[in-house]
Amino acid sequence: MIPWIQDVIDLTIPHTCASCRARITRQPAGLCVNCINKIEVLVNGCDHKLTQRLGKRKTQIARAFALMYFEQHGVTQHLIHKIKYHNGEHLARYWGRYLGSLLQSLGVYSDVKLSLLIPVPMHKRRERRRGYNAPLHITYGIQEVVGDKALVCNSVLTRVKHSKSQTTADFNQRYQRLTGSFCACPLPAKPDIIIIVDDVMTSTSTIGHCAEALRTVFSNDIHAVALAFTA
Ligand SMILES: [Zn+2]
Repeated sequence: MIPWIQDVIDLTIPHTCASCRARITRQPAGLCVNCINKIEVLVNGCDHKLTQRLGKRKTQIARAFALMYFEQHGVTQHLIHKIKYHNGEHLARYWGRYLGSLLQSLGVYSDVKLSLLIPVPMHKRRERRRGYNAPLHITYGIQEVVGDKALVCNSVLTRVKHSKSQTTADFNQRYQRLTGSFCACPLPAKPDIIIIVDDVMTSTSTIGHCAEALRTVFSNDIHAVALAFTA
């Protein structure tokens, strides 16, 4: 895009911080500097609770990572909300790049020649209503950083069951409700690892069911990443 066109867009359509609504100019993070500083980051992309939750069920996931803690009514909730519901494709991609850098710095890619990046799919009906699937755009951001070692694959995993909002259900209820929600098709390549990508990881039950479905077509390590994690 010609630079002056961007200036005109910035002047006519002012950008606001996704959390405090302060006016911001050309801030691809979608947040003002004050709000960015309030984000609580997971050291090394993981913590004790996340590891514990993964081990709780036989979810068959080797490792899971997230960038930040999900804080109710806080900056992270506002950011994720914008990414999910307000044409947040660009934001999703921007923050996805950070996830890509995180995976690289943690050595996930050190012995890997090819990985498949698989976004948690949305049911077709919901995707039509919302217009896009945020995890897919986070996945594009990761791929931008990782390059040839990552192949974005949006067609392997399908959501076959439309599930209602899970916010009030406990871990067991969530897990039960999601049974049979996903199915996997044969892989288009032979990757060393698969990485499942989501926006928020709550009970790990969604990721667990995705991994279970993928186990029917893949036997090596499956990892999971998300922008935020509910501690
Ligand atoms: Zn702000």
